[in-house]
Amino acid sequence: MDSQPKLKILFTKEEIEAAVKRLAAEIKEDYQSKYPLLIGVLKGSFMFMADLIRQLDFPLEVEFIRASSYGRGRESSGKIKVVQSLRSPVKGRDVLVIEDIVDTGLTTGFLLDYLRKKKPASLKLCALTDKPSRRQAPVTIDYLGFTVPNKFLVGYGLDLDEKFRNLPDICFLEEGS
Ligand code: 5GP
Ligand code: MG
Repeated sequence: MDSQPKLKILFTKEEIEAAVKRLAAEIKEDYQSKYPLLIGVLKGSFMFMADLIRQLDFPLEVEFIRASSYGRGRESSGKIKVVQSLRSPVKGRDVLVIEDIVDTGLTTGFLLDYLRKKKPASLKLCALTDKPSRRQAPVTIDYLGFTVPNKFLVGYGLDLDEKFRNLPDICFLEEGS
């Protein structure tokens, strides 16, 4: 039996690059004089963050935060906690959270609440992908790359049991795989 899941490309690296450039232009417009604090949500956002900030030619700071929500496999446990917090103070900063994907919205919603309590001057969300069909908690995405169908995505930082993060394209797992 073939245990390798079958992958199909949803967005090529060229399409991702174009989306990242578009998002960077929008973010630059709003943040270029604000010295923002960009907070990437680990691990999935690391590649997006790296590509995005290379397109942002103005002063900014980078932080990462890590929440545990998804265990192994494809389903969220629904129980979320911060497992790696921030070193830079958030109070008074213009904070932009960088997410790989907003799925149920539970993780992002939890993290935005967590950060809001630290009293930033402003708090916005940039997500590379949005899977609105699965939403359980309302989340406003201020800067969005792609709306995606209800499929399990891998690549460009997104994993299945820690595999496939290194794929340059965003792919989905074919039904039954
Ligand atoms: P939530 O369901 O809380 O919005 O999403 C929590 C996390 O689940 C995301 O940040 C992401 O790490 C993971 N996740 C949600 N949908 C997918 C998906 O289609 N593929 C992968 N690889 N991870 C996902
Ligand atoms: Mg994530």
